[in-house]
Amino acid sequence: MKFRFAPALLAPLTLTSTTLLLAAPVTPPVPMASQPSNRTSPVAPAPEPGSELAEIIKKGATMEEIARLRDPVANTPADALRELKAGNSRFYGGVARRPELSANERRAQVLSQTPFAAVIGCSDSRVPTEIVYDQGLGSLFIARVAGNIADPATLGSIEYAVEHLKSHIVVVMGHEGCGAVKAAMLPAAVRAREPENVRYLLDQIVPAVTGLPAIRDEKARMREAVVSNVRLQVHKLRQNPVIQRAEKSGKITVVGAFYEIGSGAVDFLQTPAELALSPEQLRQIGTQVRRATLTPAASHDGHVH
Ligand SMILES: [Zn+2]
Repeated sequence: MKFRFAPALLAPLTLTSTTLLLAAPVTPPVPMASQPSNRTSPVAPAPEPGSELAEIIKKGATMEEIARLRDPVANTPADALRELKAGNSRFYGGVARRPELSANERRAQVLSQTPFAAVIGCSDSRVPTEIVYDQGLGSLFIARVAGNIADPATLGSIEYAVEHLKSHIVVVMGHEGCGAVKAAMLPAAVRAREPENVRYLLDQIVPAVTGLPAIRDEKARMREAVVSNVRLQVHKLRQNPVIQRAEKSGKITVVGAFYEIGSGAVDFLQTPAELALSPEQLRQIGTQVRRATLTPAASHDGHVH
């Protein structure tokens, strides 16, 4: 299974609306004692002299004026995906911009938010979504939960982003070495020793890792398990009527992603083949749904009260 992205992605990114938007320090940056001196990120260029944005900043614009001039980063699902891929290639290529807005632009954000992408990601400290995609304040709407599961709380967050914030893409992002996925692969008797809420999380992942093909190599087996979990959570997202409607109308696209901690690169799962669940997984999901329907008195800790 190969869906790695070619390094050709390092190419694009000349002057985008984001560059302009994020590039306008109105006041000199406050020196920070801890600022690293060997930072390799290029300094973002100033807004084009004479541009409307540059002019109004010079005149001391109001928050409303700056907010009005903010170009959306992406207007379509394809734009949004391109921006995520470009940001990630900046990150893993060592040329991240680490965008931070100027004081005026930051203040303008009080008025509204227009995140172009919504992400369900893992709580893992090694996978901070904005850094991985080299995005700044206001760009990503993120639900982070161990094992990047689609459950009522994260689905509600994504519904909100799609319905009210007009995000153009929904990403479910798993990652290399996910502890939650690893724990879900343990025998049921071992999982049963975990606290109730941890068991709840693991239960959402178990159908994805049950009946996986036997893979001898540990790293490859774990990757397959994580990708399988991404597929399962994408499947659950797509069962949601709000997401379904938005995707059908072309307003959004739903994709999976795998973040490799070692390289910093994200592989996207986009095609039906890349996102397909195996017959065994579908059977597992069916069993889980049937069990939940048949034993409504059972709490998610598995004990019937
Ligand atoms: Zn994880």
